[in-house]
Amino acid sequence: MKSHARVAVIGGGVVGASVLYHLAKAGWTDSVLIERDELTSGSTWHAAGGMHTLNGDPNVAKLQEYTIRLYEEIETASGQSCGIHITGGVDLAGTPERMDFLKVACARARYLGLDMEIITVDEAAKLFPLLDKRHFVGALYNPLEGHVDPAGVTNAYAKAARNLGAEVHRFTRVTSLAARPDGTWDVVTDKGTLVAEHVVNAGGLWAREVGRMAGVTLPVLAMEHQYLITGEIPEVVASPTEMLHVIDFEGEIYMRQEGRGMLIGTYEKAGVPWAERETPWNFTHELLAPDLDRIAPSLEVGFRHFPALERAGIKRVINGPFTFAPDGNPLIGPIRGLRNYWVACGVMAGFSQGGGVGLALANWMVHGDPGFDIWAMDVARFGDWATGAYANAKVRENYSRRFRIRFPNEELPAARPLRTTPVYERLKARGAVFGAAYGLEHALWFAPIGTEPREDVTYRRSNAHGPVGHECRAVRGAVGLLEISTFARYEIRGPGAAAWLDGLLANRLPREGRLALSPMLNDNGRLIGDFTVANAGGGRYFLFGSGIAEQYHLRWFEAHLPPSGVALRALRNEWLGFAIAGPNARALLARVTRDDVSAAAFPFLAFRALEVAMLPAFVGRISFTGELGYEIWVPADGQLALYDTLCEAGGDLGLRHFGARALNSLRLEKSFGNWAREYRPVYTPFEAGLDRFVALAKGEFIGRAAATPAREAGPGRRLVTFVIGAALADAIGDEPVWHDGKVVGWVTSGGFGHCVGRSIALGYIPAALAHAAGGFEIEILGERRTAALLAEPLYDSPGDRMRQS
Ligand SMILES: Cc1cc2nc3c(=O)[nH]c(=O)nc-3n(C[C@H](O)[C@H](O)[C@H](O)COP(=O)(O)OP(=O)(O)OC[C@H]3O[C@@H](n4cnc5c(N)ncnc54)[C@H](O)[C@@H]3O)c2cc1C
Repeated sequence: MKSHARVAVIGGGVVGASVLYHLAKAGWTDSVLIERDELTSGSTWHAAGGMHTLNGDPNVAKLQEYTIRLYEEIETASGQSCGIHITGGVDLAGTPERMDFLKVACARARYLGLDMEIITVDEAAKLFPLLDKRHFVGALYNPLEGHVDPAGVTNAYAKAARNLGAEVHRFTRVTSLAARPDGTWDVVTDKGTLVAEHVVNAGGLWAREVGRMAGVTLPVLAMEHQYLITGEIPEVVASPTEMLHVIDFEGEIYMRQEGRGMLIGTYEKAGVPWAERETPWNFTHELLAPDLDRIAPSLEVGFRHFPALERAGIKRVINGPFTFAPDGNPLIGPIRGLRNYWVACGVMAGFSQGGGVGLALANWMVHGDPGFDIWAMDVARFGDWATGAYANAKVRENYSRRFRIRFPNEELPAARPLRTTPVYERLKARGAVFGAAYGLEHALWFAPIGTEPREDVTYRRSNAHGPVGHECRAVRGAVGLLEISTFARYEIRGPGAAAWLDGLLANRLPREGRLALSPMLNDNGRLIGDFTVANAGGGRYFLFGSGIAEQYHLRWFEAHLPPSGVALRALRNEWLGFAIAGPNARALLARVTRDDVSAAAFPFLAFRALEVAMLPAFVGRISFTGELGYEIWVPADGQLALYDTLCEAGGDLGLRHFGARALNSLRLEKSFGNWAREYRPVYTPFEAGLDRFVALAKGEFIGRAAATPAREAGPGRRLVTFVIGAALADAIGDEPVWHDGKVVGWVTSGGFGHCVGRSIALGYIPAALAHAAGGFEIEILGERRTAALLAEPLYDSPGDRMRQS
């Protein structure tokens, strides 16, 4: 092995091989793959090789499409067969709820340019004659499904990479990693040490261990997974074409043809983790003992739904482990706080996702940006709270639910409550129905006294609809109280603080005692954050941003910190807060502080250090609801005192608690965008309508060079607001927007505006259509509903209410 390389990719499974190929293809040919055994000797060799484009996140679905379409390319580039079988697939629904799920998936596929179709049971039976029609109500047909040969694919990636100049070293184990002072890595192997500029952890079953070599805890866990091969099936033998891929959601099984029989796999409810703490290094090309009892319940359903399977009997059972992240999506990207240490692990569907993962990671390493919307796969979506034990609970839950519906309003119970604030029990006593965001419990809505605090999960309006409406009206009519500890908050101080922030953020910094809204851009001029910036004076600033993006933002901040002069701190558990909003908010604040909060002393966008409820507090006059509002932050040990004081003082002002669902409704009425919905790293601030917060004239800042021509050229697409003629279902996000019979855009978020009585959706459409007179439709649960484009927000368009004096 050579002594130096630009990249050391650790792991020769399908993922590491794909990363190596994409790096070499992007020109980084001085890359080396190091594999402890033969290629594929982790989870890859015993995979069933199935592939499809179905994923809860549309952007991941798109990368799955890329992966499937890549196989011909790597076959040609390597001369190695991938054993490609594109058979098409049928995903079967046994219940109306499952049909909803398939209709939503089909609609999403439409705006991604994926070609899927809802079909009847009869049509499904024609495509897949083994099914017993009595058990199904409909299906989704997807022409882009099939399977490949796992070893063929891995070797094709590796050979194609080698042809481009990259190296592959088998039977070489990385035993430790050491960061060198210049930011490169000593990659120590049992065959010598390689100095590499970058390290990629594609360790698959050993990703945790390769993480630990650099002091990183990766939230991944392997689960045992079984599939079986049936004996000969006469219908299969007689079929003139290869049998389709099938998913039977009710049976929780997947199937494809294998020889003259079928291969049946299942994600059983009683899933079992493997090597929970440490993966043995001597595990290689091994299988685990089969346990048919565990999968018997799924098989019984399968045999009922497809009687020919039972008649054929079982010829062989495969049980092997593979890894998952807590939410089932891959973990990719750079690790916060480490220079040039990248991960590509937790890939549970290597043959659907491996190509996309390799491409995104290679883009990121070579060009500084993944080039796609990979928010759902970014390793930074988990913070340090995502421990091994958390991953264990969540991965088990995810595995057991692999083929179950995750409703848009559904909160999964495992590993909860994990992070709570002191006010949690008080809110619970008030009937709060909680969600978990970035591991933190927060109130979604409040169930009326005497009713069970539980939300019915559905694609339509739930039992929360009525109570959320009351919460919204209380905010617009009196005053509402919302815990805002889910917002991320950072303190930046020091002699270099102002200059650093000015170079980091796109807007001008606020004067002392003021707030400003500011996007943050990457070098390509795309949105990587939207913040409220507070200038507390004396070189001290606070940033308030999206809670779920804390790790993501810290990774960016820290990578751009100067060596001295700026102290940055995430205030996560130190300062907690509440928002009060509504016409009575000022009166409420005045009752709990001795400071002057009159409109003259405390105008819109002011930021003050006040004494509130006898506590030292920072208060900003700002509101995401569109009403007169304040955000109040106090030291964590004062949170209960602040809460009790506000509740007591607000009683006769009509104070009512509200939660995230009401906040969503209120901000939709104002057409306010939200991080991870309207604002994501693929949009420019001009597309997102944030032009007035980008101060190109202020001087240098990150992203300015790209944003300047983008502004001159004008946005190609625009964020717009629609009112939908919806019945009992609102848009939730990712629905296609049609115009004159063609899909032209997509919804980013939607919901019911309780105070305007309309169903609202925000979404992106081509700029050329942003002033079209009509002709729009939004597809909700398979039905195209008329959508009216709005020229301005539905509620208080001039913004008088939040600015009121
Ligand atoms: C029974 C079963 C059926 C499956 N069916 C499908 C399917 O139908 N479709 C699908 O898409 N996916 C399927 N999968 C999942 C698929 O196998 C995984 O998604 C895929 O293998 C992940 O690949 P990987 O490269 O991340 O990990 P791995 O295959 O585990 O590769 C990691 C590699 O890194 C090497 N390594 C680790 N540490 C070191 C070190 N320190 N030094 C050197 N080398 C190291 C290991 O030896 C290993 O070869 C199935 C899995 C199982 C178990």
